[in-house]
Amino acid sequence: MSKKRAFAKTVPAGAFLLFPPFCAMKPPMNSEPVIIPRPDHPISRSLVSPNALRVLYRLKDNGYIAYLVGGCVRDLLLGREPKDFDVATDATPNQVKRLFRNCRLVGRRFRLAHIHYQDEIIEVATFRALAPEELAEADTAPAAVEAVPADGERPRAPRHVVSDEGMVLRDNVFGTPGEDALRRDFTVNALAYSVADFSIIDYAKGMEDLRNGVIRTIGDPVVRFIEDPVRMIRAVRFAANLGFTVEEATWRALRELAPAITRATAPRLYEEVLKLFLSGEGERVYQLLRQAGLFGYLFPGFSAWLDRESDGFPHSQIGKALEWVDGQVGSGEPVSPPLLLALMFGEYVEERAEELMTAGMQVTDAVNEALAGFLGEQGPIIAIPQRIGLAMREILLLQHRLAKIPGKRPQGVLARSCFAEALAYLRCRCAVTGEGEKILAWWERYSRDNTMPPVEPGTGETEEKSAKRRRRRGKRRKPAPA
Ligand code: ATP
Ligand code: MG
Repeated sequence: MSKKRAFAKTVPAGAFLLFPPFCAMKPPMNSEPVIIPRPDHPISRSLVSPNALRVLYRLKDNGYIAYLVGGCVRDLLLGREPKDFDVATDATPNQVKRLFRNCRLVGRRFRLAHIHYQDEIIEVATFRALAPEELAEADTAPAAVEAVPADGERPRAPRHVVSDEGMVLRDNVFGTPGEDALRRDFTVNALAYSVADFSIIDYAKGMEDLRNGVIRTIGDPVVRFIEDPVRMIRAVRFAANLGFTVEEATWRALRELAPAITRATAPRLYEEVLKLFLSGEGERVYQLLRQAGLFGYLFPGFSAWLDRESDGFPHSQIGKALEWVDGQVGSGEPVSPPLLLALMFGEYVEERAEELMTAGMQVTDAVNEALAGFLGEQGPIIAIPQRIGLAMREILLLQHRLAKIPGKRPQGVLARSCFAEALAYLRCRCAVTGEGEKILAWWERYSRDNTMPPVEPGTGETEEKSAKRRRRRGKRRKPAPA
């Protein structure tokens, strides 16, 4: 276990729920925050990454405000292990850089400081503002807003730009701690932990929603989802992962604005989709995306195919495949992006490839064409990188080699770069359909021992059978006599 992982283990699950309610002290949003003093919340410094503490203390000792912010505060309060620790401060990126030798400034959209440690990077962001009043007015031409911090240093591209529809295109404005909290997406993601007095600072009634297990946008959900449609799928991810419910108005806005998800850029949606389905709650995410109406906009061709039956059977493999992926993620087994995507969409691609093969196409060409069709229809919405598409192709093509044991050159199959993922694909298929167990066992034994195990009679598709199939296909391709 890495150092980073060790410290958060001791928080009992749901620790936060043991603490007294703070609702009585709540002010309306946008005014002074609720401050929850150290004795009234369960976050102790022993739960915080030592590197993050180092960063917080150095900022504080140099006279700056220094908070832990975002997902780590939420997760610590819930007794979960944070993925990473993010810091927010009133120091500008250049001021942060001057304090840390191990600091690199990154980001074009918004300058961030990354403080590098051996096994961890602590991200330090200067407090930002969303300038909501400008956003509300920006319904015609793009608007530009600028704020200059006390030391006169400007962010590199000091612009806050919104599109005609109110979508934030650039968000690059320094702000106050309160503005920084209120520009965040959900109330439970807007809590801050101050290293000055170890209190929690709550500007958005996040503690109450955390206690009640609710995902709620900060401010009007319609406005917040139009500003950034990706927040809709983030709402689904947090609800699924934390076991929370989506608050009613937030859910209504989400269903209403689901078509707007395609306005997010295709590379960003690719990254978000991976996070969604590799979160360990992919099956729940899938159900929620369908209920919200988002799934059909993210994967239109696949979704229409799911709604149809094949040979009188509904297509149910995706849900089961995602359950299998969740099991892998839960037990710490990595699932690569191409394997995930092959598992999710393999049945769809294979069905199309089968049709092409029945029409006489060779396996390789058929899989290529079927996969290209899928990648082509997804391209404008979710940009699956070329190298990932190539690896998906390899995984799907290898299934045809794995189906034959021992096949022509089994050593060649073992040497393929995607062999491990192709075998994992087969493993999942076996678990989902209950078919192909003997073939799987054969390849697992062969890859482990590197000596060819005997083939039990009646197992898999022999060379003879596949040759017959090729001959049959060959015949079908001949033109009909005039
Ligand atoms: P995870 O544990 O999955 O990383 P997280 O809450 O840390 O969850 P991040 O994507 O790492 O999520 O973002 C960090 C914080 O930045 C969030 O908690 C939220 O406060 C803010 N944030 C991220 N994306 C957005 C967004 N699209 N709009 C507004 N705030 C956002
Ligand atoms: Mg995070």
